[in-house]
Amino acid sequence: MRRMRLSKQLFVTLKEEPADAEVRSHALMARAGFLLKLSSGIYVYGPLLWRVLRKIEAIVREEHERVGAQELLMPAIQPRELWEDSGRWDHYVAEGILFHFKDRKGAEVCLGPTHEEVITTFAKRFIKSYKQLPITLFQIQTKFRDEIRPRFGLMRGREFIMKDAYSFDATAEDMAESYKMMREVYTRIFTRTGLRFMPVEADSGAIGGAGSEEFMVDAETGEDAIAVCRATGYAANVEKAVSRISEPEAATEKVDMHKEPTPNARTCEDLLALFPGLSITRLLKTVLYEVTIGEAKQVVAVMARGDREINEVKLINHLGALNAALATPDIVKRVTGAEVGFAGPIGLADEVRLLADSSVAGVEGFLCGGNETDTHYLDVWFGRDLEQPETVDLGTVQAGDSVVEGEGVIEITRGIEVGHIFQLGTKYSDSMKAVFAPEQGKQQPFHMGCYGIGISRVAASAIEQNHDENGMIWPVQIAPYSVLIVQMRVGDEAQDALAQELYDALEVAGIDVMWDDRKKVNPGAKFKDADLVGIPLRLVIGRDAADRKVEWNPRRGDDKSVLGFDEALAQAKAFIAS
Ligand code: ATP
Ligand code: MG
Repeated sequence: MRRMRLSKQLFVTLKEEPADAEVRSHALMARAGFLLKLSSGIYVYGPLLWRVLRKIEAIVREEHERVGAQELLMPAIQPRELWEDSGRWDHYVAEGILFHFKDRKGAEVCLGPTHEEVITTFAKRFIKSYKQLPITLFQIQTKFRDEIRPRFGLMRGREFIMKDAYSFDATAEDMAESYKMMREVYTRIFTRTGLRFMPVEADSGAIGGAGSEEFMVDAETGEDAIAVCRATGYAANVEKAVSRISEPEAATEKVDMHKEPTPNARTCEDLLALFPGLSITRLLKTVLYEVTIGEAKQVVAVMARGDREINEVKLINHLGALNAALATPDIVKRVTGAEVGFAGPIGLADEVRLLADSSVAGVEGFLCGGNETDTHYLDVWFGRDLEQPETVDLGTVQAGDSVVEGEGVIEITRGIEVGHIFQLGTKYSDSMKAVFAPEQGKQQPFHMGCYGIGISRVAASAIEQNHDENGMIWPVQIAPYSVLIVQMRVGDEAQDALAQELYDALEVAGIDVMWDDRKKVNPGAKFKDADLVGIPLRLVIGRDAADRKVEWNPRRGDDKSVLGFDEALAQAKAFIAS
């Protein structure tokens, strides 16, 4: 159906916003009847939202098919054995993200959060020879993830729609080519959706592999922080970003290390207040984590300069850990003998593994925790008072840092991750023994790439980026309908006739159109609903209908004018095409 009459079809708007709506996209979509929350992170997609999702899917499909990718559909239910083969079952279960259960025979299954295991099984069976390569397969399907914080409506659902694609190549070089091709596909897709976006370097997370980028829609409500340098074009997710930081202040005199009482001074601010002459760059904090590596838990202490923050993603990656959590007060007491806030590198329990962020390198005559409640050490020197632990980049990039390559300053902006592309290499083909016969020699594992787009998240991001206090403003490309005819008085003969004529003419022109032909709704309420639902172009049929006049009224901006029927139609066509 390419058109809709509001009097004849289900159209509901609400006055009240849901109490739990934390972002505008969620609040506005709920009010406009686009979605209904059934349970945390689980929604009914109403008819208008479904149209948006189908339009996004159509763009995604077209751009994948343009480069020869083939669509298939994999099952949502996946057997545990596949995840044992790839080695991911325990990790996903430990993270709590996996919905899993036993079937009536006692076999364990999960609802797919992603499909590397299934596609690798498929490729293993059907791709036997190098002659069949390269191949890219994709699907658009519902995914399930038991997210810790399912908030923000469609932005983070526990059941959501994703497009996932997987490439198979004979060599690493070919895989890099497929990746490049998909990067272009993604650029075309997001350009066509009408969103402002940028690709950024990304952490690969639990999916694994080397080399990945995220496509970020810029929005203040985005959950991701992005390090951007306008001068050099550097852009990376803060989980992954690297930078050059300022030099620490040099120590002027080299006095002996000494213990100082620091009652209740647990934070850098407290300590600076106590020692006003000290620069924060000569204050080294020691943060304790409990990390899980394989089956084992271990306490890890990480040193960093006072003005730097520790990046838990980098820490987890460095340790090959499943997760890392700040140590509890009990653990802190056990390994330091002190309350929280006084940990330091000198005299930690043997069980603790000590690491240091690169920011500590070169720091002289510093202050650090004394491993005794209300005590710190002052004038500590690496080399003299303790060995400098090996330093690794475990810090979080901050605004004002310099870029590593070239000259430029980093800013931090926020974004919504709508797409993610990875070069997986042979991670899954190795573990799942998915091989093909190359031109010469023995069988080789596939080089794989994987590529995701959060279809339902794209819809939410479009609204985060495009709304005002009165409602949504859909980009034409993904709007539920392109044009809304607002008829002021239904039953007025001239208005009825002109609205019908416009409705038909727009259909003939291939433009999808909604017609507000509700009889008992007053014009004020119709305009309110039009603002809320955000159809990009409104054509108002009112008092001048007898003169074949139409009011031109796009949703964005306040460009209003009265046009003759033919002109309005011609302009509408141009508006939709542009
Ligand atoms: P996030 O970091 O936001 O949790 P992710 O990195 O785990 O996402 P991927 O595994 O890269 O997600 O999934 C591919 C795409 O699916 C993401 O780029 C995002 O657009 C979308 N997506 C992921 N999780 C959700 C979710 N819970 N709800 C809606 N869309 C999601
Ligand atoms: Mg991702």
